[in-house]
Amino acid sequence: MLDNSRLRIAMQKSGRLSDESKKLLAQCGVKINLQEQRLIAFAENMPIDILRVRDDDIPGLVIDGVVDIGIVGENVLEEEVLDRRAEGENPQYKTLRRLDFGGCRLSIAAPRDFVYSGPECLNNLRIATTYPHLLRRYFSQYNVNFKTCLLNGSVEVAPRAGLADVICDLVSSGATLEANGLQEIEVIYKSKACLIQREGEMSPTKQALIDKVMTRIQGVIQARESKYIMLHAPTAVLDQVVSLLPGAENPTILPLTGEQNRVALHMVSTESLFWETMEKLKDLGASSILVLPIEKMME
Ligand code: ATP
Ligand code: MG
Repeated sequence: MLDNSRLRIAMQKSGRLSDESKKLLAQCGVKINLQEQRLIAFAENMPIDILRVRDDDIPGLVIDGVVDIGIVGENVLEEEVLDRRAEGENPQYKTLRRLDFGGCRLSIAAPRDFVYSGPECLNNLRIATTYPHLLRRYFSQYNVNFKTCLLNGSVEVAPRAGLADVICDLVSSGATLEANGLQEIEVIYKSKACLIQREGEMSPTKQALIDKVMTRIQGVIQARESKYIMLHAPTAVLDQVVSLLPGAENPTILPLTGEQNRVALHMVSTESLFWETMEKLKDLGASSILVLPIEKMME
């Protein structure tokens, strides 16, 4: 039996979200010894238990209060919520934050020779999908009817196999569609991984732990999106240099030994520097331009 005083986090056991979910917790200093076949893993240094399950089960585990927190794709979460509402339930959960991985889109794709002229031309077609509720919500805006062919995998082969006219499936690069002779005709939902929490009271110690982990996650994601920039520049063009740097309100300016007219500038940027900007900086007389990754941040 799991100890209820420990924070329970559900994440995907193996699949597209599992590596990034593991990495995120590791970067937050949660030490977990994952054994491949184990459903449950225990953090060594914090009162946290990790439940490793199929991604489809994660929204339900959070909504039913079986786990405290879940890391799941918004597409799977939203589909589960719509499914439960269709069953007459009123599913509750809190979104803690969107994460910076698991990006994909739910799209309708048709055979390459299909002539697409808008959602209405899909009326009464059979559509293969794992996401019937998201699809129904999309088509309800256009008063379009469709027949569903519910598939939990290999959706992209449905038209060729004669199971459906078109499909509605997750796409990231589009290579799978391409390889199956399909063209993407409509994006119906854009998704990323997100962190959700069950509704209801948490004990003060559990809430404090969630707050601590959330602050660390914020720091990890912010650090991933930021760069540390260092350069040397002529004092005379400092304003122009600063205006080229993204988010450089308060750069640190340091003297350079033996240099009267040049200074060193250090700053944290919210974006990476493009080569084009670096070239413009160089044209202004900047030198020794370094763009460094940041490991952790706390504001
Ligand atoms: P499970 O065995 O856990 O049910 P699965 O096969 O349903 O796994 P994955 O293919 O591992 O799921 O995808 C998990 C999630 O990753 C998706 O629900 C989606 O949020 C996200 N994702 C990101 N890019 C893609 C993509 N190109 N195709 C599918 N899912 C993607
Ligand atoms: Mg799944």
